[in-house]
Amino acid sequence: MNTRPFSPARAWPFLVIRRGIPLGFALAGLASALLHTSGRGWLLLFTVACLAAVGPTYKRGDSYLKNRRAIIRWDGFWATAFRPFARFLGQEDAWVLAFCAWNNRRVKEAFELRPARKALVLLPHCIQMARCKAEILEEFTNCFECGLCTVGDYLRASLLARWDARITNRSHKAYREAREFRPDLIVAVSCADRLLKGLIKLPEVPVYAIPLQLPHGMCVDTAFSVPHLQAVMEALVKPKRDAEGKVTPLRHEESA
Ligand code: SF4
Repeated sequence: MNTRPFSPARAWPFLVIRRGIPLGFALAGLASALLHTSGRGWLLLFTVACLAAVGPTYKRGDSYLKNRRAIIRWDGFWATAFRPFARFLGQEDAWVLAFCAWNNRRVKEAFELRPARKALVLLPHCIQMARCKAEILEEFTNCFECGLCTVGDYLRASLLARWDARITNRSHKAYREAREFRPDLIVAVSCADRLLKGLIKLPEVPVYAIPLQLPHGMCVDTAFSVPHLQAVMEALVKPKRDAEGKVTPLRHEESA
């Protein structure tokens, strides 16, 4: 699995379908309108409708954030509609991750120049080693940092940078936590299926999606790239500062 931060390459399969199909229909409608006089009005209307369907894919920055709900509804529709076809081709995860990569590209463009002030990291409970008894659902700092799973690596990075984060074992809890916290950016780590559902269910908040690695299958001893998360947080989120404007790391003992 590619965990290179901000890799733009994987978005292209989604973009080819998302733009290519409506543009193809628009061209076909225009050509038919030019060749046939009967029904020309309807054909031109059809062409305009196809072009309007492509329009939201060109929104960037503030315009993208303002229209995000509608954009995610449209993009989510295409991602969901073509998912069975991708499954048939054996490319379901690649297709969903292409949609996530396209979403990430635009979220990155929107927050790179004006970083988020209030970001929330959402993590799935399955990153904790299944046999570990540390009560990290209660509190991250209950992790013993034994080095056997990603939680310890995450904890070190998160304590240093003071990220607001939640770890949950249910998607609906994650959505509820996110709505209550009211962040201006969510960085969510999850499997492809949950990332797609989460992006569609929370269209009101920009979400940067980081895919889980599943070396032991779904929901068991999963992992993710902490350096990828760190790179995203450093690039898209304002660092927390004290009253004098200094970045203040949270020491381990303060949070224990
Ligand atoms: S790093 Fe070790 S102690 Fe912490 S959650 Fe993972 S297995 Fe448990």
